[in-house]
Amino acid sequence: MITKLQNRHDLSDEEFLELLQTDSYDDVLHKAADEVRRSVYGDEVFLRGLIEFTNYCKNNCNYCGIRCGNTNVERYRLSKEEILSCCETGFKLGFRTFVLQGGEDPYFTDERICDLVKSIKDAYPGVAVTLSIGEKEKESYRKFKEAGADRYLLRHETATEEHYAALHPAELSLAHRKQCLFDLKELGFQVGAGFMVGSPGQTNEHLIADLRFLQKLQPDMIGIGPFIPHEDTIYRNEKAGDLAMTLRLLSILRLMFPYVLLPATTALATIDPKGREKGLKCGANVVMPNLSPVEFRKQYSLYDNKACTGEEAAECAACLEARVKAAGYRIVSSRGDVRR
Ligand code: SAM
Repeated sequence: MITKLQNRHDLSDEEFLELLQTDSYDDVLHKAADEVRRSVYGDEVFLRGLIEFTNYCKNNCNYCGIRCGNTNVERYRLSKEEILSCCETGFKLGFRTFVLQGGEDPYFTDERICDLVKSIKDAYPGVAVTLSIGEKEKESYRKFKEAGADRYLLRHETATEEHYAALHPAELSLAHRKQCLFDLKELGFQVGAGFMVGSPGQTNEHLIADLRFLQKLQPDMIGIGPFIPHEDTIYRNEKAGDLAMTLRLLSILRLMFPYVLLPATTALATIDPKGREKGLKCGANVVMPNLSPVEFRKQYSLYDNKACTGEEAAECAACLEARVKAAGYRIVSSRGDVRR
């Protein structure tokens, strides 16, 4: 099965199920994924400077710590000056991609987002700007693209209707989320989808549906990380997603999509102190250190005990560089575009 995947042949649902439900293939799978990532990206690891610029959100997703129904969160928004200052710090540290991520915050109108994108691109020509600000109408996405945004991250979360409905409030729909992803693709964004591993109620069949959806979408980036419970959600007593399963899926994704930009996420680093390094060895080729001001980091609390909330950006970058090197890879200072 692994050779089949490596040779770009599809697997049947039964074969995917077999890969997912046992750890017997893990060693071979991880090794094959690393070979494929090295054949496309060598030992390069791309940096994305994550700026969590608002934790206001109009949505009430059942799993998320910044859901609007959580009254225990102290809400914040970064000013344009604060955002540009994060970029300045990141640029000096060699970052050439900035990711503006936030809750769905109505304060940030299309005009304000476009102004932010333009200001970053004017101040730092040649950098890539990624937006991760949720579901919008196609016209808004078009304006963001015209303002200069290059990429858009919007995890589909789960490709199965009933599972989506269990994780989200009734006013959110899987159909709209998927539509957004196809709209973004059509508008020429480099697009990222993805899902949490081990979200409440998730089965292997759901994961196979996720893989099938990704085959249809053919995204440039795939963000996966373990689900981690947050104390102010109904899932506070649920188990976190599993490290082995997350690594298994990273490897499967690398084999299925050799060119894909695949981050070793903060959530992975949160469930295991060496999570990022393990992710890189299993096919991941992107890291997304946090550039948000330290005083706000704890407030962007999607889940409990989030890693790297206390370090200054420079400290964080130095620590990451050493970790990536020790894992056998090399951080490069470039935009890190997809190599299709
Ligand atoms: N609002 C934007 C959106 O909907 O795409 C971006 C921000 S949203 C908080 C970013 C991602 O955080 C989500 O796509 C979700 O997969 C992840 N997330 C939220 N709660 C989580 C949790 N408890 N554990 C792990 N990941 C979580």
